[in-house]
Amino acid sequence: MAGDEQKRIVFLGPPNSGKGTQAVRLAAKLDVPAVSTGEMLRRAVASGSDLGRRVKDVMDAGRLVSDDLMAEVVRERLAEDDAGAGFLLDGYPRTRPQVETLDDVLAERGARLDDVVLIDAPTEVLVERALARGRVDDREEVIRERLAVYRRQTEPLIALYDERGLLRRVDGDQTIEEVEREIEAAVGAR
Ligand code: AMP
Repeated sequence: MAGDEQKRIVFLGPPNSGKGTQAVRLAAKLDVPAVSTGEMLRRAVASGSDLGRRVKDVMDAGRLVSDDLMAEVVRERLAEDDAGAGFLLDGYPRTRPQVETLDDVLAERGARLDDVVLIDAPTEVLVERALARGRVDDREEVIRERLAVYRRQTEPLIALYDERGLLRRVDGDQTIEEVEREIEAAVGAR
């Protein structure tokens, strides 16, 4: 796919639903950049940049970085050339104000979202996966906090995007390949 045919897709789902993995796969298939705000922030922390220093404590606690700061990060990233005709967002938006920011950014370019892919799985599956992955920030307490934050602040976006007719639900409690096939069918990428 090229030019105007490229898609703008949001991946929604709790931590460890597999959306990061799936976002990278689908982005390659659609020839659009996979924009992961979590990855961007982790890189900023690792590099010790000003942004990294501002977000480190919040991330370590499993809470959300402020909407204003995220708006700057996302605006800047989506203004880059490679995101001009399409992109896949993984981890943004996560709150209602972030939905509005994304709406604004898109409206400014006369663009629209094509699909919002929701990947979900039962809580215990998500917690088990996080523990198995064993990243330093994956203490059980922080894992559960991240899930609670998701349920409280991000889950309401499901109904919002469903009302807009954009929501595509995918069962994340399957193999990576099975989830991938469901997503491709849902966004018409086959
Ligand atoms: P993720 O890898 O997407 O789970 O993101 C890791 C962490 O980065 C989250 O727990 C938040 O602290 C922060 N983060 C990533 N994306 C956002 C966002 N859209 N809004 C607020 N915080 C975010």
